Amino acid sequence: MKSTKNRYSANSCRQDSNSETNEEENGELCPGFKDVDAFVKYGLGAVLSATKASAGLPQAGDEYDFYRSFPGFQEFCESQGDGLLHCMSQIMQHHGCRSHVRDQNKLTGLEERFDLVVDSNDVILERAGILLDEADGVNRNQQPVMPAGFQPPKIVVSSWNRKGPGSGSRSETFRLLHAKNVTRPQLKFKERIDNSNTPFIPKIFIKPNARKPLPACKTSRERPEDLDVPAALADLIHQQRTQEHVDDMFAHPYQYELDHLSTQEKLLSKPEPQMYKPMAETKFSFIDSLEDLVALNEKLCKLSEFAVDLEHHSYRSFLGLTCLMQISTREEDFIIDTLELRSEMYILNEAFTDPSIVKVFHGADSDIEWLQRDFGLYVVNLFDTHQASRALNLARHSLDHLLKHFCSVDSDKRYQLADWRIRPLPDEMVQYARTDTHYLLYIYDCVKVQLLDFNHSQPGLLQSVWNKSKDISLKKYVKPIYTEESYLELQRKQKKSLNTQQLTAFRLLFAWRDKLARQEDESTGFVLPTHMMNKISEELPKEPQGIIACCNPVPPLVRQQVNELHLLVQQAREMPLLKVRKHEVMLFGPHDTSRVSESDLLHLSPGELCFILKEVETKDAQKSLSVAQMKARQITESFQNPFRMYLPSKDVHVNKNAKFDPSSKIFEISKRWKLQSIEQQQKEMEAKKKAKEEAKEQARKATGNGESAKSGGKKRERVDGEVGELTPKPSKKLMKSAEKPQKTEATPQESFKPFDYSQSDLKVFAGTKSKDSTQFDPNRQDEGFKKKVFACLISGNRSMSFLAGKSDRGFRHNWPKR
Ligand code: AMP
Ligand code: MN
Ligand code: ZN
Repeated sequence: MKSTKNRYSANSCRQDSNSETNEEENGELCPGFKDVDAFVKYGLGAVLSATKASAGLPQAGDEYDFYRSFPGFQEFCESQGDGLLHCMSQIMQHHGCRSHVRDQNKLTGLEERFDLVVDSNDVILERAGILLDEADGVNRNQQPVMPAGFQPPKIVVSSWNRKGPGSGSRSETFRLLHAKNVTRPQLKFKERIDNSNTPFIPKIFIKPNARKPLPACKTSRERPEDLDVPAALADLIHQQRTQEHVDDMFAHPYQYELDHLSTQEKLLSKPEPQMYKPMAETKFSFIDSLEDLVALNEKLCKLSEFAVDLEHHSYRSFLGLTCLMQISTREEDFIIDTLELRSEMYILNEAFTDPSIVKVFHGADSDIEWLQRDFGLYVVNLFDTHQASRALNLARHSLDHLLKHFCSVDSDKRYQLADWRIRPLPDEMVQYARTDTHYLLYIYDCVKVQLLDFNHSQPGLLQSVWNKSKDISLKKYVKPIYTEESYLELQRKQKKSLNTQQLTAFRLLFAWRDKLARQEDESTGFVLPTHMMNKISEELPKEPQGIIACCNPVPPLVRQQVNELHLLVQQAREMPLLKVRKHEVMLFGPHDTSRVSESDLLHLSPGELCFILKEVETKDAQKSLSVAQMKARQITESFQNPFRMYLPSKDVHVNKNAKFDPSSKIFEISKRWKLQSIEQQQKEMEAKKKAKEEAKEQARKATGNGESAKSGGKKRERVDGEVGELTPKPSKKLMKSAEKPQKTEATPQESFKPFDYSQSDLKVFAGTKSKDSTQFDPNRQDEGFKKKVFACLISGNRSMSFLAGKSDRGFRHNWPKR
């Protein structure tokens, strides 16, 4: 650095020397200083004393106002202030920066001045950087070639990570450790990450501590296509197996064990708190080899309790990555490199599911899901200190607070948001991570004592914490599922109401972002942050450059695919411009037909119209069913492919690669499912054709009474519990209901979908698309269509046909037509 500085100064002085030749003659590099070090020393001294002096001035808010009431002080301050501003302005001008404050208003002018200083600092520092690089022989015009791997962590101090005024007189800042180009750990994973738009299937294939064995479909790795039987028979075997084990496939593997877990007597009695060892005297091991992991597991199996925590990264991955696991026993601390040992972590299930060993976590909700998602790990006998803190009604329930309260340890959570993928792990991050579990067993003792004291040694409160903890360990990981309605969930949370064009843009961008994020294994926030998506949707830029202008900084994938995005925005701009009233479409959802009038309908997007129509059709069809028909329908219902229930929506987009990769589970599933769904669709077709004929018959009768035209209003009345599967729900809820089919009663409209197959194109079953399709196309935008929709709503006409093979749609319809 020193030599760089010298070279830099030599360089700049050479430039100076053109005008001031006599300095060179004096042998001085800077006027008045014998070398650059002397100049820097002097400069730093001056800056230091100026800083000290300014810090010594009366503080704004307290003494300052008092001092200012003296005219002498006021004059002095103003003249000094003006002098300083003039000086700063000259420096800015010297560097070619904007230096004039346009706004003379005292308050806003100050803000603008501050911005000027920040801008100028950037310019000056950038220039210094360029000159230093040049002096070092680095040509800045070329894109730097970044070496793969670790770069020293950089500290970013920004307004968002500045501690609030409550935390002491001086404003402290959090340090955000991040590395610019960490190698993507995903590249080293043995098992490919499955971002496909399909439900999560538990990863477990060996089940230690089982009281109920793992179903054969989980343990057997033998696939029917490997059997020595004809292909058709293999498919049949597959089908049989799936139908038998579909419940098991998605179930919580330790549901039975957890349901039958009772809290041991000794865990409900008052312990003698065992003091933690000072961290400095505690043995620490960083575990990144299978051998060490096995040894750790053996050690843990001999204990009666240990503490666990995880660190996670979510920005550069679609589903998120568990980067570290911290484990503390009473004697030792361990940190496991879970990026390195990702596919071996499952061996810890031996200790983690042993009901005689207590696993202490703090706030385990996410941890339980991450353990399942990344490692297939489950926890039997969990104690969550966060739940204990709630039961005790402590002032705050964070780990920092418990550490302060029980251990008098001042921790700060400044590394919580660090990039935990960094390797080798910097010492300060190791220290932080250790702190998260080191004290936890002692805290566990303390809260148990307090929970018992609270209740005069009655175990009720303590038992409730054990129960709550068990509920958390029963949580199942739910993968984010994209449906055609997902965008409405997000849009609903935004403040602004959008018109039809803006809403369409939002929908298209949302689909683009989801698809790309899954494909590139990036978070949706990395691909296109929601606020930028909002801005693009609101502004609907005409040019690709306008899209870029909506983003600051421009996300790399937006820059790369700006033309694609431009087409999406263009497609949205082609929509008829209508205002969508938020309270109708957003608040009550597109299915609340009780609030729909003709004018409202014209405001709805075609997708939303489609939902309304389906709902009305369903209701109409139900009304026209006789008891016998209802029975018949129930029987038909019982033929339904059981696998369907496990699919969150018929609109699910299945990642193509996963679907066609014969080694993937999705491949197996989709193959079986395809066969069954064709069969099922044919059955449905027949049943519905019949129902339709019946309905027509009844409609004919009704028209005779002249009632059908008036019945429109009635039909739009809402029936309790009707929301059913048609309402857009957060994907989690959707998944939950899909995973527990035995518990949810089938609502009438779930079981009867009166699609008119007679008019639909049966070629969809043969995999060919028809040209003159009468299928509903949400991209088709004509008023005539909307009018037809409305007419249909009013008259109860059920002859509109809908896409038969909707499951085939995915979100292709969201893509611009080329
Ligand atoms: P902790 O249990 O506090 O160690 O947190 C575990 C992980 O959760 C961290 O590594 C972060 O990835 C994530 N996390 C915790 N708190 C936050 C937060 N406030 N915002 C975002 N992520 C968080
Ligand atoms: Mn945690
Ligand atoms: Zn942690």
